[in-house]
Amino acid sequence: MADEITKAQVARPGSDTIFRKMIRKEIPAKIIYEDGQCLAFHDISPQAPTHFLVIPKKHISQISAAADDDERLHGHLMIVGKKCAADLGLKKGYQMVANEGSNGGQSVYHIHLHVLEGRQMNWPPV
Ligand code: AMP
Repeated sequence: MADEITKAQVARPGSDTIFRKMIRKEIPAKIIYEDGQCLAFHDISPQAPTHFLVIPKKHISQISAAADDDERLHGHLMIVGKKCAADLGLKKGYQMVANEGSNGGQSVYHIHLHVLEGRQMNWPPV
């Protein structure tokens, strides 16, 4: 947890990120789903027994940088997240989380939706 906070505090927005390299298939990903608009893949450092990310192929650094025109795309990410959760057999509920900026815990500046399941999730996040 402390590591994640440190990463978020030092991370800065940039035009190319590890997620863009994954979209371009330059680095491997455990892909769950892909279409023309988005990619879903397992998180490399899972914080729950199942932890995957849904990202748009369009580069949007963070939620605060999203445009009004991105509304449908964001809805699509959420719908893909719930379909992937169903395909993975996640029946007992899950958390969908989007971290924004350093205080929000964002460490990769390419918008992503976390989906976490397989244990009792906490609210509020600590
Ligand atoms: P956030 O802290 O909300 O920006 O989340 C970024 C997430 O990306 C973290 O949960 C990381 O574990 C995850 N991550 C970073 N690099 C990779 C990678 N190469 N493959 C899969 N997930 C990654």
